[in-house]
Amino acid sequence: MDIKANLDRIKSSFENPNCLLIAVSKTKPESDIQAAYEAGIRDFGENKVQELTDKAPKLPQDIRWHMIGHLQRNKVKYIAPFVHLIHGVDSLRLLKQINKEGKKIDRVIPCLLQIHIAEEDSKFGLDEKELKEILLGEELKSMNFIAIKGLMGMATFTEDNERIRREFISLRKLRDAYASSSLPPNTELKELSMGMSADYKIAIEEGSSMVRIGSAIFGERNYG
Ligand SMILES: *Cc1c(COP(=O)(O)O)cnc(C)c1O
Repeated sequence: MDIKANLDRIKSSFENPNCLLIAVSKTKPESDIQAAYEAGIRDFGENKVQELTDKAPKLPQDIRWHMIGHLQRNKVKYIAPFVHLIHGVDSLRLLKQINKEGKKIDRVIPCLLQIHIAEEDSKFGLDEKELKEILLGEELKSMNFIAIKGLMGMATFTEDNERIRREFISLRKLRDAYASSSLPPNTELKELSMGMSADYKIAIEEGSSMVRIGSAIFGERNYG
C-alpha cells in the first residue's frame, strides 16, 4: 500500500483547500500512521478508546487525535486529557460526562454533535428534535468544559449518489438553520464533519469542512 501516493491522489482531488483531511487509522499499525505523518498528515481518527490510548503515546506528540466512533460514557476519562475533537457526541448524557471529565482536569473539550442523516437505522446520531433540545436547552449553557464546534454525520452506505448528496445537504441545512439561532457562548456551528472514502467528493461539494478517510489511504481493513 503506497500511503503517500494515496494521500497525494486524494489531496489533489480536493476542490476545497479549507477542508481538513483526517486520516482514519483504525485497525492500522503505527508504521502506517508514521508513513502518513511523514507525508504531512497531522490529523488522525480512531474509533475505539483502547486503540487510541494505546497508539497515541507511541507516535509523534503533535498529532491531533480525533475520536470518530461511538463513545461510551465510562471511557471519556481516558481520552479527555488529549483528544483534539470528539466527533460522535449523540446524547445529552454523553455531553454532560465529557463536561464533567473536562472539569476534573481543567480542559475545555471540543466536540461535534452527531446527527442521524442516513435512512438506515443502524447508525448512531441525534434527530433534529434532539439536536434542538440540546442546543436551545438550559443545560448546555452551564457546561464550561465543552466547546461545540459543529455537526457530524454519516451518509447511507449505498451506490445511490443522489441519496448520499441529499443526506449531506440535510446536514448542512441543519447546521445553517441553527447557526443563526442564539446559541450559548460555548457553541458554534461551524464545522461539518462529513465524507468518507466512498463519498468524500460529494461531501466536499456539499460543504464539508472535515472528511474522515480511512481505506482510500491505508487500504481495506481486515477485522480478522
Ligand atoms: C471507519 C470510519 C471512517 C472511514 O471509513 P473509510 O470508508 O475507510 O474511509 C469514517 N468515519 C467513521 C465514523 C468511521 O468509523
